[in-house]
Amino acid sequence: MYDLIIIGAGPAGLSAAVSAWQADLKSILLIERDRELGGILNQCIHNGFGLHLFKEELTGPEFAGRLIEMLKDTDVEVMSDTMVLDINGDHEVSLINTHGYQKVQGKAVILAMGCRERTRGAIAIPGSRGSGVYTAGTAQRYINMDGYLVGKRVVILGSGDIGLIMARRMTLEGAKVLACVEINPYSSGLQRNIKQCLEDFDIPLYLSHTITDIKGYPRVSQVVVSRVDEKFRPIPGTEMTFDCDTVLLSIGLIPENELSRAAGIVIDPRTKGPLVWENMETSIDGVFACGNVVQVHDLADNVAAEARKAAVAAARYVQDNQPHTGELTVKTAGNVTYTVPQRIHLPVTDKLVEISFRTNRVFGQCAVEVVDKDGNAVCRFKREYITPGELQKIAVPGKLLEGREEYLTVKVTEEQK
Ligand SMILES: Cc1cc2nc3c(=O)[nH]c(=O)nc-3n(C[C@H](O)[C@H](O)[C@H](O)COP(=O)(O)OP(=O)(O)OC[C@H]3O[C@@H](n4cnc5c(N)ncnc54)[C@H](O)[C@@H]3O)c2cc1C
Repeated sequence: MYDLIIIGAGPAGLSAAVSAWQADLKSILLIERDRELGGILNQCIHNGFGLHLFKEELTGPEFAGRLIEMLKDTDVEVMSDTMVLDINGDHEVSLINTHGYQKVQGKAVILAMGCRERTRGAIAIPGSRGSGVYTAGTAQRYINMDGYLVGKRVVILGSGDIGLIMARRMTLEGAKVLACVEINPYSSGLQRNIKQCLEDFDIPLYLSHTITDIKGYPRVSQVVVSRVDEKFRPIPGTEMTFDCDTVLLSIGLIPENELSRAAGIVIDPRTKGPLVWENMETSIDGVFACGNVVQVHDLADNVAAEARKAAVAAARYVQDNQPHTGELTVKTAGNVTYTVPQRIHLPVTDKLVEISFRTNRVFGQCAVEVVDKDGNAVCRFKREYITPGELQKIAVPGKLLEGREEYLTVKVTEEQK
């Protein structure tokens, strides 16, 4: 029996393993299906990682390398090239690798399986089925890890960070990126990526537009892009045709929760990740989750911080599990689409309870407010600018939650000028 089993060795799993070791768990198993540790970071060869955690600007592989070096100073057992097939409520984990099928058990489990990309089928783009349509992450893997340039004239659908990063990457590799097309009236990527990956290379960003046709067989030869109305319906007469051989899709990520669902863990339909308490515990006692499997993060540094929280809580669970006496639900209002955590254990033992969330529209000067069930203000945080593309965070002092009952509501309100 292991103290802790961690599934997935991206930045979430690696940080959780190191932090759990530092929190005095001495029998830890880290399982990764890939041959290499590091998760998605291995294909992110651009810089922009590690500014918070290591106070340096690192590439994805360098960031992963730092965590792998830290892991070498521990006795964490690592099984790579090993796929987890199943987990259950008794913390039994079934896995398979070249040695065969095996069952292992942990006193606690941390889920850190990351997420996968949405594909063309998810949004049903009309048109022919020629080759040359890739998800942006697949194209990134081909270029950065396998050395294949996937096309020469490219249109990108979706302005999430992967699409933006790939617009720059394809340009640097000699391809012509004709347009980045976004159905929303705002980009869903980080502001810094819009500047550094599109504007710096004169790549046009078409907001409130989408691809309405893909032409060409056996290879894509044209795409038709149309403006959309506020209900995302294409507006006839606004069509633009681009001659291209490649379409990259950056249309969202889906947390990898097949294992979690099969185990009976409650999934939040808004995040598509496990519903978690403030210590990253899921609805099954002793099963914790962190990183992109819980919610899509913009920054690996935040993934590492969340993983540390899960690891410390898992260690506490194994070493001295104190029962909780109650809980608060965290509700949303005022354009807040979800929060993580969705529940807070009572009594609150942490000095600060961090809540992250996203909104479904852009706000200028505004305030993030937390109110209790009677409408009393718990706390308020001023913000200059909030965009759906950037994960927001607030830290609520634990003391302010004393005596609150049933639920809290997190909302954003526009500040009057
Ligand atoms: C293109 C792109 C650009 C980015 N740019 C930046 C940036 O500039 N700066 C920044 O800070 N962040 C950036 N990020 C975000 C950051 O990389 C991610 O938030 C982070 O990697 C998520 O970490 P994770 O450990 O949760 O998931 P992952 O890195 O996806 O790791 C999950 C791991 O779990 C493994 N796994 C899944 N299922 C199983 C199973 N059943 N059995 C065994 N193993 C399993 C997977 O193989 C994988 O290795 C970027 C992300 C992308 C995709």
